[in-house]
Amino acid sequence: MNLLHIAEGWYKSKIHADKESILLSKKRLKECIKCPHAVDKSFLKFINGKSVNEKTKACKLCGCPIVEKSLVNEEQCKIGKWKK
Ligand code: SF4
Repeated sequence: MNLLHIAEGWYKSKIHADKESILLSKKRLKECIKCPHAVDKSFLKFINGKSVNEKTKACKLCGCPIVEKSLVNEEQCKIGKWKK
């Protein structure tokens, strides 16, 4: 996930995701939920000037938070599970 994709994913997950992104994310997350590469992970975030350690699911293959990754149209699953 490049820096622009990270910013886009965080923005869409916390502030605003359009309808198309939400539908795409739901479809992708159905695959991630079943995937053995989805693991628990903590990410340090800065929200309203405070650092927060947020626990979430991440993809073990790329290290990305799954919800945010799934919201970015250009992102791909490294093993092709999102193409189904
Ligand atoms: S992005 Fe692909 S490899 Fe990663 S958790 Fe989702 S389905 Fe699994």
